Amino acid sequence: MKVHPDEFAMACEYANSHDFEHLNPEQIHQVMVRGRELHKWFRAHPHLHAAISLSAIGSIFAVDWLVWIALARWFVATVPGSWALILAAIFTGTFHSWLAYSLSIYSLHEGAAHNLIFPGRSPFSRAASFLSTNMCRLSAAEPECYSACHMAHHAKFGTKDDTEFLNFIFPRRLWLNFLPLGSFFNYTDFFVHRTSAYTRSSATSGLIAAIYNGLYLFMLYRFFGLLFTVIAFLLMPHIGFYVDRLRQFTEHNLMPLENNSGARSLGVGFWGLLIGGGPWGQPCHLAHHMVASIPWYQQIILHRYIVGLLTVTQRKQFLLKPIVGFPALLWAILRESNHFTRTSASRVFAGD
Ligand SMILES: [Zn+2]
Repeated sequence: MKVHPDEFAMACEYANSHDFEHLNPEQIHQVMVRGRELHKWFRAHPHLHAAISLSAIGSIFAVDWLVWIALARWFVATVPGSWALILAAIFTGTFHSWLAYSLSIYSLHEGAAHNLIFPGRSPFSRAASFLSTNMCRLSAAEPECYSACHMAHHAKFGTKDDTEFLNFIFPRRLWLNFLPLGSFFNYTDFFVHRTSAYTRSSATSGLIAAIYNGLYLFMLYRFFGLLFTVIAFLLMPHIGFYVDRLRQFTEHNLMPLENNSGARSLGVGFWGLLIGGGPWGQPCHLAHHMVASIPWYQQIILHRYIVGLLTVTQRKQFLLKPIVGFPALLWAILRESNHFTRTSASRVFAGD
């Protein structure tokens, strides 16, 4: 992802001109101690970890199959009529798209970038690791460039060398992604799952995704006919991509340029799981930034530990509000970004 100097300048000015209750040294120390304990446990139980990883991947494919074969076929057979078919197609297309996003973020982030899905050195682990880090190609995502950018994001967080700089994003870069087929076309450069120009790796992802989704659509056509397939086909490239863009827009936006206080956690409630891409996605992003060496299920444990350490003010800064959760956060970020741009952009760019 390209770093925009104007957004970097806005992020610096925002951080300098707004009060923020950072995690204090004692809180950080406690999180690190707990993180180290979790990491030791993870390294000491490689077989159990591999079984958990396998279950996570298996459950995504199983639920996908359940939705489009079992549930959709049962619904269409039980409730006859065009509207039932259309409803079933919307549900199936939406759910498949979200599951592809869930699989993709797990594969890209925890697999390709952090090598945490199957981290062992045995032949089985290496083969499983290769497959799991390339699963993202089923939804046309490209793991090699993502991995390099993402690790710089951790190592150089909040600096000009952070190649996933997200601490200030002009909202128009988010909105442009919402145009039709934004997951394929570069209306903006606010994306991470593909490269800005075609490479051998991105072409491989495109080919694998075309074959996989082509087979999927062929099966839908055989089972449900043309109308169902067209609706599902129109939804598939959009829903998961839109959710992914919303996640990245809100993870660090308007947060401090400092790793231990620079991320929000959406949590493991409804909004966190939906936007975060499931429990193996990134619902607990603050915990991940503080201790990047532990897998997703331990991030959830660490997240709950961190929540217990936070003051009332810190909870408001780092976590979602109950019920209104993500929509309220998104609205607050959009309103604040627009307001800050109106009141401060000319001063920031004039070098004041
Ligand atoms: Zn990461």
